Order: sequence, then C-alpha cells, then structure tokens
Amino acid sequence: MSSTRKEGVYPWGNTRRFNAYSDYFKRIFGERVQKVTIDAGFTCPNRDGTKGYGGCTYCDNDAFNPAYCKPSKDVSVQIREGMEFHKKRYRRARRYLAYFQAYSNTYAPLEELKTIYDQALSYPGVIGLVIGTRPDCIDEEKLDYFARLSKDYYIILEYGLESFYNRTLEHINRGHSVEDSIVAIEKTAQKGIHTGAHLIFGLPGETRDDMMREADMLSGLPLDTVKFHQLQIIKNTVMAQEYHEHPERFSLFGLEEYISFVIRFMERLNPAFVIERFSGEVPPWMLIEDTWGEIRTHQVRTLIEQRMEEWDTWQGKHVRQPFNL
Ligand code: SF4
Repeated sequence: MSSTRKEGVYPWGNTRRFNAYSDYFKRIFGERVQKVTIDAGFTCPNRDGTKGYGGCTYCDNDAFNPAYCKPSKDVSVQIREGMEFHKKRYRRARRYLAYFQAYSNTYAPLEELKTIYDQALSYPGVIGLVIGTRPDCIDEEKLDYFARLSKDYYIILEYGLESFYNRTLEHINRGHSVEDSIVAIEKTAQKGIHTGAHLIFGLPGETRDDMMREADMLSGLPLDTVKFHQLQIIKNTVMAQEYHEHPERFSLFGLEEYISFVIRFMERLNPAFVIERFSGEVPPWMLIEDTWGEIRTHQVRTLIEQRMEEWDTWQGKHVRQPFNL
C-alpha cells in the first residue's frame, strides 16, 4: 500500500483523513459494534508487589471506570447493565464487545481467565473481547488460549506501552521495559490475535522530538489498533506530588499544541493502524491543572479532523516504507 491517495479515497477505503476505529468495525462486521466496559476485579503486578507497589506514578484507576461497572458484580450482570446503558444512547448497536479495561486483565492464572472470558463470550450479543493489559502479563499458554478464541470471536489484546524509552518507563515506575512491549506485541500478532498499543504523550523528561520519533518505532510493529492520550495529572497520585516538587520536569500539552502534534505524528504513522482514540478524558475536578476545560474526546477528534482538512494532510502521508493494509 502506498501512502498516497486517489480521488479523495484513502488506503483504508473512505474519505476520512485517518484510519478510524468506528469504520474498522463496519469493515469487519458490516455494522456498528458497541463496547461494554467490564471490571472483572483483576489487580496489577505493579500494585500488588510482584513488580512493585503503588503502581505507575500517574495511575489512579478510579479515573477510568464508568459508574455501572463494579468489580463486586458478576461479569454477566455488568454486561447486561452495560448493554442497557448503551441501548439508551445507541439504539443501532446490536452486537457488543466486552471491554476489560481496568488494571491488567491477563494477570491471573489461566483457569481464572477462562472462567471470566468464557462467561463474557457466552452472553448473547457479545461477539468478542477487548482486553487491556501490560506487556509483562502474558505468556505462551495464555496466548494459545486467546488464539483459540480468535478463531470464533474478535479478540484483541491492547498493551499499555506508554513510552518507547526505558528511562521514562523507569521514571514513571512502569515495572516493564520497552523490550517487554515489543516481544509481547510480536508474539501476540504471530499467534493470529489482534494486537493494540497505547501511548501517553507528555510524560516527564520526554521532548516533543522524542515523542515524535515514537511514530516511527510504533509503525514497524505488527499492530492493528493504537490509542493515544495526553498526560493528565490526577490529584493525589505520585506524579501529582512530583509535579508540585519539580514542575520543570513537565511540559503538559495545551489543546492547540496537542492537535498539531498529533497530526504531525499521524503523518508519520503506519496507515494500516486503526486509530482508536486521540486523547484521554478525565473529569476536570480530578486533575491538578484543568488546561483543556470540559472538552470531550469526540470534540478533540473533530478538531483534529478539521485541522487535517485545512492542512490537506492524512495518516501516513510521510511514511517512507510501504505497509500492508
Ligand atoms: S499498569 Fe495500569 S493499573 Fe497497573 S499501576 Fe500502571 S496504570 Fe495502574
């Protein structure tokens, strides 16, 4: 596939200027698919002492769980309640993906994973799993299990990489290395399982050029989807304390700068990657600094698309090598 376009249609088959997540599911399933968020009560090796205590310095899991989703509830109950919640908003969705987001959703013995994921997949209307995890929480046996499921369902393992710099990963107490990330992604893709990655822009100690180079590093990996978000510093985290003591280590993105940055990043990004999200959304009252106001992620996406139109640019415009779409 080349990074050029013909008659306004881009390599992903439509006129949008990036390879959008919503279109991806329409391509695969022929219709809209809705995710329902589940908290199955997993923990994280970076919190329970296996890798460390306290977690990543920015982590506050309360920041990303919807109200209907509580680990004390059975998975089926959470799916039912999640579907009811979404049906009020998205009447068109008939098929669902169970989205296991909180903590590290492959961090448990295989038998436990099977109980949870088999239960989710047996719920009527659920056609797959979206599983967020760490690159150091997967092994051969678990990958084989997900590879078997992949034959009948849509299964994606989404890995939190956060950065391609080991110095950053150490600084934020991630407890895994860049090499762990690369190995996990490559093994997952080799097994025929959909593979996703997540990066944070604005981590302490990284320059804008450092972050921009991550587009090239990411582009060479066998990924299906990518997600990005701007660093948001949540009150009462270790990072909030660091920010108060060493503000010089941080350079948080303003909205305007972020839009430009993300567009330049996308120009260097493999056009085969489906972009799931461009920005994070934490309630302003939870943040130490509310620089973006109450803007929602879909509004940020609209601003990015409008700017791409103005600049007549698109995802992969400056990619040098050809990629398969
Ligand atoms: S890996 Fe995820 S859940 Fe665990 S401490 Fe880091 S951000 Fe929090």
